[in-house]
Amino acid sequence: MGKLGRALTPPTQKIRLILDLRRAGITDTAILSAFENVPRELFVPEAFLDKAWEDTPLPIGHGQTISQPTVVARMIRALGPDRSLKVLEVGCGSGYQTAVLSRLFRRVYAVERQAVLLRTAIARLAELRRHNVTTKPGDGSLGWPEQAPFDRILVAAAAEDLPPTLWEQLAPGGIMVCPIGEAHDEQRLVRFVRRGALCDTTDLGPVRFVPLVGGKVGGKTGGKTGRPLQRAAG
Ligand code: SAH
Repeated sequence: MGKLGRALTPPTQKIRLILDLRRAGITDTAILSAFENVPRELFVPEAFLDKAWEDTPLPIGHGQTISQPTVVARMIRALGPDRSLKVLEVGCGSGYQTAVLSRLFRRVYAVERQAVLLRTAIARLAELRRHNVTTKPGDGSLGWPEQAPFDRILVAAAAEDLPPTLWEQLAPGGIMVCPIGEAHDEQRLVRFVRRGALCDTTDLGPVRFVPLVGGKVGGKTGGKTGRPLQRAAG
């Protein structure tokens, strides 16, 4: 395909991804339009630019991956997006899913344990003027107590079980979507709906995610991640 500027993704590639999303059962036009409008090429390493609009996960360094678009879409659909709601995202990674969420929700609170990844994500989100996103480095399984309760919670890494702290931070009637299972076991995408003290659980099928890990990485180099950087790294 030759050397493409990051802003010059051929429309055919975008159209192909939108068709993939439709084939995966995503018909909500707001969700499809959010995917069309988030430039995925900005979130992948230079070496994978030609695959940026393919429906595939890609490595983003530090042992992590940018999620597969159809999986991101399934998770977001399961959340029931609404521009009046605030959402907590655990595992911001490249920031791609964060950017998609920011087009569908009123406000996004995103937590990422790897400070290096978060710094790059913040720069990209700033470049795209996603002003309704607030981020912090740290262990997202502890949620964000100062901002709780959340209408929606999306966990982008696999937990062994429903993380209790996140459950406590879910608003009444709130929805959490989280991959559940050991790293090498079969993982299931699960939707939890909070109904009073009760929890409605729906199995949304098999998925494969990196594990949700406690603790923070890169505190020394990435302690001041609240500020956007000047430009995104590769
Ligand atoms: N959806 C993201 C990628 C998710 S990969 C994207 O589209 O780019 C999962 C991310 O979760 C990784 O970046 C990993 O560092 C992060 N992670 C794992 N455990 C975490 C935890 N306890 N708290 C916050 N982030 C965590």
